Amino acid sequence: MFLSVSNLTKSYNTGIITHVLKGVNLEMKRGQIGVILGPSGSGKSTLMNIIGGVDSADSGTVEVDGERITGLNDKQLVEYRRESVGFVFQFYNLVPNLTVAENIEVVSNISRNPLQTDEVLSAVGLFNKKNRFPRELSGGEQQRVSIARAIVKNPKLLLCDEPTGALDLETSRGVLSLLQKVNTQFGTTILMITHNSAIAGMAHAVFRMRDGEIAEVRQNSELIQAE
Ligand code: ADP
Ligand code: ADP
Repeated sequence: MFLSVSNLTKSYNTGIITHVLKGVNLEMKRGQIGVILGPSGSGKSTLMNIIGGVDSADSGTVEVDGERITGLNDKQLVEYRRESVGFVFQFYNLVPNLTVAENIEVVSNISRNPLQTDEVLSAVGLFNKKNRFPRELSGGEQQRVSIARAIVKNPKLLLCDEPTGALDLETSRGVLSLLQKVNTQFGTTILMITHNSAIAGMAHAVFRMRDGEIAEVRQNSELIQAE
């Protein structure tokens, strides 16, 4: 398995102890698109943050492409985040006083094997806006820049936390088809959190979380056969 999460647990102690992840198991093959659905507070972001190496687990393991993320030291985690994982969030977190191209170069300049800025800008359909500033772009376009920034390092794994959460339906569709294109064009494995169950139709695997556990897994065999 490309991504393998086993018996992952995580609690927070804020006076009372909250068991956020209660033994999560999840597997994805390389090149798949996976979607995590589930109500607010069910542990989706916590799970994704541990997979992305920005949060730590109490017990259990995460393996990505044969590397045990849950066993890495701080220096190795920095390397993992910088080279192997791209993040896309609901809010685009672009640097306002840098152009579109410069926002992407912030990442490619510190990556070992980056793609060309022009290549990713073309892939997201924003080559002709490379010298614009984020405030000159629509919300959907800003999210496209943030996707370009996430993929320029050519990550193994793209983690998207509510990537269409701030966008209207029409714009959301465009961002989703872009993510499908990234999946196909670059072979990037994508794991995405969403509240929108309609999005689940584009996924190879759907994981429904409830109260710190994966309550349901659905493999979309039609899509898998279509590969
Ligand atoms: P989801 O993404 O499904 O909305 P989260 O993973 O963000 O769920 O949160 C799950 C639970 O963990 C929530 O009850 C939340 O309040 C709690 N939680 C998340 N982060 C922290 C934290 N840093 N400290 C304390 N509790 C937290
Ligand atoms: P949306 O409805 O998706 O938010 P907008 O109406 O904001 O879209 O923008 C439509 C188009 O106009 C986009 O291509 C955007 O890049 C362009 N645009 C919006 N604001 C500006 C601006 N201040 N300067 C240059 N182009 C802009």
